[in-house]
Amino acid sequence: KPRVSARLSAIAESATLAVDAKAKALKAAGRPVIGFGAGEPDFPTPEYVVEAAVAAAKDPANHRYSPAKGLPDLREAVAAKTLRDSGYEVSADDVLVTNGGKQAVYQAFATVVEPGDEVLLPTPYWTTYPETIALAGGRTVEVFAGADQDYLVTVEQLEAARTDRTKVLLFNSPSNPTGAVYSAEQTEAIGRWAYEHGIWVITDEIYEHLTYDGVTATPIQRAVPELRETSIVLNGVAKTYAMTGWRVGWMIGPRDVIKAATNLQSHLTSNVANVSQRAALAAVSGDLSAVATMREAFDRRRRTMVQMLSAIDGVTVPTPHGAFYTYPSVEGVLGRTIRGRTPTTSAELAELILEEVEVAVVPGEAFGPSGYLRLSYALGDEDLAEGVGRIQELLA
Ligand code: PLP
Repeated sequence: KPRVSARLSAIAESATLAVDAKAKALKAAGRPVIGFGAGEPDFPTPEYVVEAAVAAAKDPANHRYSPAKGLPDLREAVAAKTLRDSGYEVSADDVLVTNGGKQAVYQAFATVVEPGDEVLLPTPYWTTYPETIALAGGRTVEVFAGADQDYLVTVEQLEAARTDRTKVLLFNSPSNPTGAVYSAEQTEAIGRWAYEHGIWVITDEIYEHLTYDGVTATPIQRAVPELRETSIVLNGVAKTYAMTGWRVGWMIGPRDVIKAATNLQSHLTSNVANVSQRAALAAVSGDLSAVATMREAFDRRRRTMVQMLSAIDGVTVPTPHGAFYTYPSVEGVLGRTIRGRTPTTSAELAELILEEVEVAVVPGEAFGPSGYLRLSYALGDEDLAEGVGRIQELLA
């Protein structure tokens, strides 16, 4: 009998974390590596949030187990924040606090997907989705939108992929990895289509506050309130408040779904660390000035990166309007001989870039088909210019 179960043997290592780890290891070994792999803001967590955590650590009330579902104050604050930012009312009872948005992703699929169910996944997709869908026994159905359509899938494409086994649509706007943001009209059309066909919508809104060029993301439940009973909202503090290390996210959904997911979590992890929850409470109860500051820096770096990448022959970059990633198509570079090597896939190109000029980027294979690279612009302006400059030189 195999030592490791088939279910877990099928899970791939997170490619984004792997690239980041490789870059950090090279850096630790003294190499002047520039890493574009990171999926996290390079800013510190705001001081008032850290102070709330310090106070919480000193309060014995936080030294014990708390309800698996989350601290009542935090669930109330998430409900209030949802009304403020998304424009619709939810009850604190409909909120489950999770160990990062990642656990919310896992639990959402685990709650509504039956073995054999199909999940429509707009592609390129964030690496974690297909793995969690598979763990739930579901079948991922990729719906691909390339650079020529700004990485935005259409209702027609979704309809063509729909079968009587389709249970869920995953919606992620702003998107990781592409930075694409659906317009209000597109969001409504997709939401209405899902509602009309009885398809659940799992909507990952973790990058909600990181949008540029006057573009805003439309919460799909605000666009189509009828989705209330068949959608699950995923969110967290990681990207908005530079709190990736604190591990606090949440899911919002219909009462039966939240109850079932809470039962799962009560056996899996119990409550999220109380100190982190108190920090998250300070974050979501406060204003959005910290994210406004980050947004300004990200916006500046985004423009620099798009402009520098566009200058490379064979590279096409749709302008991303959200998150902190650019997703250039490098199809025009593949097959070209660069320093004696001829990469034919984006994975080979990423390896070449790392080895030749010590710049770490994530290949498209981590998010769907080959032919693309993901570069995060959540790093300092100088490093960014230096890193993209090295890629320009290499591919010139
Ligand atoms: N959803 C998306 C699209 C993400 O990119 C991430 C993090 O990279 C998450 C969810 C989860 O973030 P966390 O678990 O750090 O809250």
